[in-house]
Amino acid sequence: MERKPLKSLVREVLETSGCLVEEDRERLEVVLSQDVATTLGLKEHQYLYFSPDKRSDDGIFVSYDSTILEHISQLVAGRGLFYQVNLANLYLKQEGLHEAISRKVTFPNSIYRLKSKGKMIVSYLVFNFCYSAISERKMEGLIPVIVNEVTLSTPMGILKYPESSSGYHEESEETGEVARRPVEEVYQIASQVARQEVKKALVDFKRSLEWRLNRDITRLQEYYGTLKEESQSRIEKKGLTGEEKERELSKIRAIDLELRRKIKEQQDRYAIRVEVELATALRLTLPVRSVVLRVRRKKKERDFTLLWNPLLKEIELPVCEACLNTIEEIYFCDEKLHQLCRQCYECPLCYKRVCRACYAKICPRCHAPFPLNPETSSGLEL
Ligand SMILES: [Zn+2]
Ligand SMILES: [Zn+2]
Ligand SMILES: [Zn+2]
Repeated sequence: MERKPLKSLVREVLETSGCLVEEDRERLEVVLSQDVATTLGLKEHQYLYFSPDKRSDDGIFVSYDSTILEHISQLVAGRGLFYQVNLANLYLKQEGLHEAISRKVTFPNSIYRLKSKGKMIVSYLVFNFCYSAISERKMEGLIPVIVNEVTLSTPMGILKYPESSSGYHEESEETGEVARRPVEEVYQIASQVARQEVKKALVDFKRSLEWRLNRDITRLQEYYGTLKEESQSRIEKKGLTGEEKERELSKIRAIDLELRRKIKEQQDRYAIRVEVELATALRLTLPVRSVVLRVRRKKKERDFTLLWNPLLKEIELPVCEACLNTIEEIYFCDEKLHQLCRQCYECPLCYKRVCRACYAKICPRCHAPFPLNPETSSGLEL
């Protein structure tokens, strides 16, 4: 599978650093300035491949664990595109964790007990996406998205906090050992959330365009309606027949065609084209309280870790293992105890209990292929 989001991440970083980047399906062709080439340890003219089966001797293969990615973050450090903030000395809740958990999440099909608690260093990527919606008018904005790089949860509430807790910033380079998920996965979640947030941000914009479109269409219908009525009443009043009547009727048909053309013109004028691109990224590292639960579903058990976040002062909502959406009602599947949202715990066709993490494509009960979910399968690009 081609690593699409990684490729766009690299492309955006290089372009912002003033490099020339040409993209074709399986690779990027880059022309780097001398200092960028030295920082990255690359030739000034270079092909970058992102898919192991398409790699070729004339370039290098880039994956999310390539050292070149490390170099790229060095390259943009200090330019504001990618920088790190480490927060330390945050107060971590000791008591009342049970209440904190039951306030945020429920376990409708399992029972659990608190097994242990500890401290963990986790990191978050904060992506700032710029969007512009272009139509008869234009609207632009910035959407910040935060993703926990360890659990893939998206505690957007944190975005309010870093500034107010600036007293805690530490300049240390040391970030502790963080078992991060691949950048590709983190970016996929960020894009998914950004798409939803852009949609929300554009609700009023869209509504006002629809209102104007409907108003313009009504005006057209009234105007051309009157013209049609005039022809119609000429036929009736004058009692037209034969060729004369045919002439008026063909006029009416022409008016209809013209009306349809004008409506289409207005629809095109008010259609919205949305562009979203990554502007900056920031890595935030902080200590969190980890709470390990022992979860029991029928005869099976598993450990399930929740994080209490000192900036949110709340438990971070976990994500569904099948669709990666945030969940408050956590279901566990029978076979492997996957953590699931309600939708991914049920077949949308036969409504029987099915785990969409165990069975991604075909329902094991009704044997029909699952319909594609537009929110999660529309590709990773925005
Ligand atoms: Zn789900
Ligand atoms: Zn089914
Ligand atoms: Zn499962």
